[in-house]
Amino acid sequence: MKQPAAPRWLYYRGTVQFLSTLFANSYFLQSLKGFCYPGLNCWACPVANFACPIGALQYSSIGLRGVLTSDKSLWAALPLYVLGTLIFFAALFGRMMCGWLCPFGWLQDLLAKIRRRKYKLPRWSCYIRYAVLVVGVFVISYYTGQPWFTKLCPQGALQGGIFQPLLHPELRAGIGTMWYTKQAILLATVVAMIFTLRPFCAIVCPLGAFFSLFNRISAWQITYDSQACTDCGWCIQHCPIDLDPRQQVNSAQCISCLECQKCPHGAIRSHPAWRPPQVACSADQLPTDPEGAS
Ligand code: SF4
Ligand code: SF4
Ligand code: SF4
Repeated sequence: MKQPAAPRWLYYRGTVQFLSTLFANSYFLQSLKGFCYPGLNCWACPVANFACPIGALQYSSIGLRGVLTSDKSLWAALPLYVLGTLIFFAALFGRMMCGWLCPFGWLQDLLAKIRRRKYKLPRWSCYIRYAVLVVGVFVISYYTGQPWFTKLCPQGALQGGIFQPLLHPELRAGIGTMWYTKQAILLATVVAMIFTLRPFCAIVCPLGAFFSLFNRISAWQITYDSQACTDCGWCIQHCPIDLDPRQQVNSAQCISCLECQKCPHGAIRSHPAWRPPQVACSADQLPTDPEGAS
C-alpha cells in the first residue's frame, strides 16, 4: 500500500513558533492582557499582549487564602476562567501548544540547534514538574502569599527582567539581589538548554505538566502503525526531545510537535480522535490466494 506523504503544514512549525511569539508580544494587542496565552509568555514584558496562566493561577491561590479566612464565597476565588481556558486548549490539542505555540519552547528548540553534546536527563526527573505545579504554583503561593514561581521564572527573567529595564531606564534603580538571582537562574537554564533537549519543559514547567495530563485523551491524537513501520529509526533521530515515537507518541513527555509524522513510510499520523487513519494491511490481513496454493 502506498503511504500518503506528510501534510505540508508540518514543515512550517518553525514559522508558526515565530509568528506565535510575535503575536504574543506584538505590543499592539495589549487590550487583550486580561486573556491567558496558552504558553509560557511573561505578561510583565513591556510588549506582551496576554496574561501568563501560571501567574494567574498563583494569584488565585493567594486570593483563595483570603477567601477561606473570611466569609466570602469560595466560587469567587476559584480560578475558573484560567483553568477553563487551559482545559479548553489541552482537551483539544494536548501538548501541541508546547510543540507549536509556546515562545519558551521555541527558544529551547533554537538553542538545541547549537552543536554540542546533548546529555540525557534521568527518567525520574520528568516527575519533578508535577511537584512544581502542585507545590510551586499552588501550595507555596497559598501559604506565603507570594507568587514565588513567577518571581524566579527564567521566562520572566528574560522578558520582564531584561526588557523592562531596557525600555524603562527609571526602573534600573530597583535592580537588586532578586533581579540578579533571577538572571542567574536564566543563565543556568540557557546553558542547560544548550547541553540538554528542552530541559525546562522536561523537568520544571508546570504549564507543560498540566497539558501533559490531557495528551492521551485530547481530541487531536497521534497514531503509530506498526504494520507500516520498517524500524528504520528515522523518527527517533528527528524527535526534538529524543523520544522513541514508536512507543512514546501521546505520552506525557511528547510535546506533540509532529516531527515524527514526517516518517518516510507514513507509519505515524495525527488526526481527530474520532477519525483514526486506516492502518496498512498486515500479512495476516492479506486476501487469501484464490487458487488455494499452499
Ligand atoms: S513545557 Fe515548555 S513548551 Fe510547554 S508550556 Fe512549558 S515552557 Fe512552554
Ligand atoms: S520513521 Fe517511520 S518507519 Fe522509521 S522507525 Fe519511525 S515509525 Fe517506523
Ligand atoms: S514523539 Fe513525535 S510528536 Fe512527540 S515529541 Fe517526538 S517527534 Fe514530536
